[in-house]
Amino acid sequence: MKIKIGFGVTEDLAVIRAVRDAIGPEARLMIDANHGYNINEAISLGRKAADYGIDWFEEPVIPEQLGAYRAVREGQPIPVAGGETWHGRFGFAEPLATRAIDIAQPDLCGVGGFTEMRRVADLAALHGVRLVPHVWGTGVQIAASLQWLAAQLPDPPRRDAIAPILEFDRTPNPFRQAIFTTPIEHWNGMVQIPNAPGLGISINRDALKEFRLKEPA
Ligand SMILES: [Mg+2]
Repeated sequence: MKIKIGFGVTEDLAVIRAVRDAIGPEARLMIDANHGYNINEAISLGRKAADYGIDWFEEPVIPEQLGAYRAVREGQPIPVAGGETWHGRFGFAEPLATRAIDIAQPDLCGVGGFTEMRRVADLAALHGVRLVPHVWGTGVQIAASLQWLAAQLPDPPRRDAIAPILEFDRTPNPFRQAIFTTPIEHWNGMVQIPNAPGLGISINRDALKEFRLKEPA
């Protein structure tokens, strides 16, 4: 489970505490500040939130501030994640080489597609940085990211490797699922990878029409 934070340290800690209480000690929990903090706030939040068993602290500060990322990473104990706004291998080169992040989150659609994602994944592996794709938007992106995850190499390479994580947005979005002939759903947190050709999905074009604002001339 991942929750949106970045509204202020006190409020965010209250939300984190409430969610941890609600989901129990076993469920994994991540926090995403969407660059809502400065360095000092992020360090303060991270030090206090660590008691609640947080897997990663996503986008604590503005993504272009790589020095701030490094300061947050050094100043508090939760692994730092980021990368949904970095594009292409050139966008990831410096964050990876300077250890600004513990977990890289390239977005398959934003990073430059499957080929560029492969290059970023290779770069991340070279630097020993874990990769968890950012997924947000259309159902097509979810399907594409699922296929990516199906082929992602185990990292680290060991028996019972860390299971790939699919970011699976649950905020209301009728368009996201309606365009599938067979919607992608989860069962107890697990998502089946479609085994049809290509991305494994078919688009329901009639459903697509319902979301069109204006018929093309
Ligand atoms: Mg995010």
